[in-house]
Amino acid sequence: MSHPTDRQYHFDTQVVRITQLTPRMRRITVNCPELAVFHVENGPNIKLYFALPGGGRTSRTYTVRHFRRDALELDVDFLLHEPDGAASHWARHAQPGDTLAIMGPRAPLDLAGEQQLLLLADLCALPAASALLESLPADTCGHALLAVPAEDEIIALQHPAGIAVQWVVNPAVDALLPALAALPASQWQDAYLWAAAESGVVKAIRAHFIAAGRSSRARTRLVGYWKQGLAEHEYHDLRHVEMDET
Ligand SMILES: Cc1cc2nc3c(=O)[nH]c(=O)nc-3n(C[C@H](O)[C@H](O)[C@H](O)COP(=O)(O)OP(=O)(O)OC[C@H]3O[C@@H](n4cnc5c(N)ncnc54)[C@H](O)[C@@H]3O)c2cc1C
Repeated sequence: MSHPTDRQYHFDTQVVRITQLTPRMRRITVNCPELAVFHVENGPNIKLYFALPGGGRTSRTYTVRHFRRDALELDVDFLLHEPDGAASHWARHAQPGDTLAIMGPRAPLDLAGEQQLLLLADLCALPAASALLESLPADTCGHALLAVPAEDEIIALQHPAGIAVQWVVNPAVDALLPALAALPASQWQDAYLWAAAESGVVKAIRAHFIAAGRSSRARTRLVGYWKQGLAEHEYHDLRHVEMDET
């Protein structure tokens, strides 16, 4: 058996509960006895496996929104985006008792020692942003820009009082960019920079940071969570080249 932090670690889970959180976000809760060895809590990445219509399977990257050790239950929040893909299609039609193969988790991001944070996320990155915000030390300060396509996607968040949360209600894929441009660089120049959104948007975010003098990739985690017009398996290798994801 490989170590629980190893990417090769596999779980064959079963769906126990489905909760429609908002019009576009569906929480799927899974469990299996083997999750007893799962030693991280909320926020790390996992790979999920889905059957392909012609045979074989494909993987997608998601976030452990919550892990409840007492119940050996794990929540994954799926954006039901259109056009559909293997993962969102599965989440749209999932029923209790369905199986879900999981590999992971990756080690969660450790921001211990960071006092200031600028966080940017679109709707599919909201599970990761929510888990990150609630894990921060109470004295962390900074800004979170969270883009949602409509007001009915705004959710309650736990975050340090010193983090100003700004909801950007705008269905445009690049809704984060004008919100970032309106934020004076003096407010984030020294902050740890975290962004997760569509690939082209993340590239534009990086360009904005570079133009403001943050050219090093140190103390940044900028990751394209998806790419317009491409399925994840078509985009995966490119993402590793483009982004800070390790
Ligand atoms: C580290 C990491 C963590 C992630 N965590 C989550 C999570 O917790 N919840 C979550 O919902 N997503 C999460 N994502 C994003 C998710 O992996 C992608 O959206 C993925 O492409 C979805 O797979 P799919 O099979 O549904 O669609 P795919 O087959 O990959 O794509 C099919 C079509 O849908 C489009 N598409 C894909 N994603 C989106 C989107 N977000 N918005 C609009 N159109 C899209 C594609 O451009 C393509 O045209 C995460 C990504 C990463 C890298």
